[in-house]
Amino acid sequence: MKEKIWLSSPHMGESEFKYVQEAFDTNWIAPLGPHVNGFEQDIASYLGEGVHVAALSAGTAALHLALVILGVQAGDEVICQSMTFSASANPIAYQGATPVFVDSEAQTWNMSPRYLEAAILDRVERTGKKPKAIIVVHLYGMPAQMDRIMEIANRHAIPVVEDAAEALGSSYRGQKLGTFGAMSILSFNGNKIITTSGGGALVSKNEDWVKKARFLATQARDAAPHYQHSHIGYNYRMSNVCAAIGRGQMEVLKERVEKRRNNYAFYKRSLAPYPAIRFADEPNESYYANRWLSAILVEDDATGDLTREAIRLGLEKENIESRPLWKPMHLQPVFETAPFYGDGTSERLFYQGLCLPSGSNLTEDDLNRVVEQVRGVVERTSR
Ligand SMILES: *Cc1c(COP(=O)(O)O)cnc(C)c1O
Repeated sequence: MKEKIWLSSPHMGESEFKYVQEAFDTNWIAPLGPHVNGFEQDIASYLGEGVHVAALSAGTAALHLALVILGVQAGDEVICQSMTFSASANPIAYQGATPVFVDSEAQTWNMSPRYLEAAILDRVERTGKKPKAIIVVHLYGMPAQMDRIMEIANRHAIPVVEDAAEALGSSYRGQKLGTFGAMSILSFNGNKIITTSGGGALVSKNEDWVKKARFLATQARDAAPHYQHSHIGYNYRMSNVCAAIGRGQMEVLKERVEKRRNNYAFYKRSLAPYPAIRFADEPNESYYANRWLSAILVEDDATGDLTREAIRLGLEKENIESRPLWKPMHLQPVFETAPFYGDGTSERLFYQGLCLPSGSNLTEDDLNRVVEQVRGVVERTSR
């Protein structure tokens, strides 16, 4: 069996281990410590725009705290992009609120501004109440149409929570993703563009909210010598050991983005002779995608044999991991009864889309092996 090629695996730099050693040497083995503070500062200065950062145990935890801080409660509705990982939507359910799912547009695969507006108007008409928040996602690091989305959100005075879990290193009109929303979240899970093994962050220009996130994430302890609580708390803080890894990873983020963008360019160039395989380019120079994952769309051909599943299985046989695009939330059994606004775009993307191996540690040989297999399937099925 040939060596496994993973979809997206951790890629350590030179300094991570040194910082972890430092955490051991100073015995800061706890969900606080100098690396946690340092990692927060590293992220804040990278993102710019005067943001503050709370380092947390997961991106999911960050999203949950964002909704808690925005006052999302049982009986509320929260608008969420349908095409995403379930972690974007689950925190809505943690709060006992109802997700309202909005379809994608075909250019960026992210939230359709048109259906966002339709959803807001229809929910207000049906329930007499505005949705409490809008969760917009930058899938695979491609910026959503932020101008239009922010204009609609601002006009209706609904806060935007930006799920930038996949989008650290991307920007829109020269502004880093993760700095547009009232609050934003990042993820440092093992498969993301940089990793702390597991972890996340809440980002906001509102320092009080970030302070509140740190307070809630450490069991909401009031200032007292004994344990006293006037809020429900959570255990969501990042460990100093994980933050040590994160500090090292921030030093190589720029290189990681460049490499992933090169992966995308390589696939696009190598598969250009096959019109059935399509790519989602940045719509114009306002968009800068980190290309966390390189994804293709497989157009239906006349024979019906060339499908994304045929390509996925062909890769699997060669010990190469690939994965369909996120299955939209409105098609998930667990969210069956949630309202949905759209025209089937995300469903079509799901049936046609496949994420190819995209790690920043892939070698030229790895990339060639992937392309060779994809070519093989295309040529076999279209004969
Ligand atoms: C990974 C991911 C999350 C969740 O982050 P965790 O750190 O794994 O909890 C949320 N949203 C999206 C879009 C993601 O890809």
